Amino acid sequence: RARRAAESVAGPGRTADGHPVALLVNLGGLAELPAAAAADSEGVGLFRTEFLHLDRDRAPGMEEQTAAYREVFAAFAGRRVVVRTLDAGADKPLPFATAADEPNPALGVRGLRTAARDPHLLETQLAAISAAAEDFGAQVWVMAPMVSLPREAADFTARVRAHGLPVAGAMVEVPAAALRARNLAGPCDFLSIGTNDLAQYALAADRTLGNLAELLDPWQPAVLDLVAMTAEAGAARDLPVGVCGEAAADPALALVLVGLGVTSLSAAPGCLPAVRAALAAHSLDRCRHLAHLARTAPDASSARTAVLTALAD
Ligand code: PEP
Ligand code: MG
Repeated sequence: RARRAAESVAGPGRTADGHPVALLVNLGGLAELPAAAAADSEGVGLFRTEFLHLDRDRAPGMEEQTAAYREVFAAFAGRRVVVRTLDAGADKPLPFATAADEPNPALGVRGLRTAARDPHLLETQLAAISAAAEDFGAQVWVMAPMVSLPREAADFTARVRAHGLPVAGAMVEVPAAALRARNLAGPCDFLSIGTNDLAQYALAADRTLGNLAELLDPWQPAVLDLVAMTAEAGAARDLPVGVCGEAAADPALALVLVGLGVTSLSAAPGCLPAVRAALAAHSLDRCRHLAHLARTAPDASSARTAVLTALAD
């Protein structure tokens, strides 16, 4: 019955009372492109570009990158594609972009920090995105991973715009970025919350360790507080604030995120129908109530139980 209900709702995401919530897909490589493009979505909320850079000892050149980005923009002509610039380091080490000898790679030179170490990497990537964006009608947004400071967001967005790409933003996946989201939002056109890393850094728990799953649970009220702060900062400036971490794939948690003020959700294509159906069944006020229940719970499992119990009533 749940599947029939999910299939009967189509088109742009919205709550039962018509509040729009863009539903987007995560894309991790060209092999996933056909399924991603075929899914009922408003576009790509997180295009992870690491796939082009893996298993090689030097960065791909501009032509090779342009060709890959073209394929994606062509498949999503008329829709939004949020491209994340290279997120090397930590769980995604790359010999040409990251140092092999860092004692704590998750706290080292990763994400946007690699651009300070080697500006050429980011420049080539932005040039390739810009060249590919000219040919198709996709709305290309560009965002940086692992932004910690407002100054980093300002430098990044200036660089993106210098390449003629008009929409630039920052991922919020470091607690400092969420705590100071008001400042971070200043130079940005949008924010996108990465709940996988946000949970890792908020709870000081390595995301690659399965035995720390409880700490990494995106229902952790501390993570929800950081999401709420980010959404409020975005709303104050009228900026879109998305969630592109795994949290967006859980229909009950998706309702909570919308109740916290998140304006778009991005997840694996197969997860979207259930998220869309959950939204269509609940009003924005109801989502806000569920968010309140989750945030006032003392821990992740009671937050989840409180929301699931309310939904079952
Ligand atoms: C995240 O950290 O939540 C995220 C979406 O990025 P990644 O999982 O690629 O680090
Ligand atoms: Mg991340």
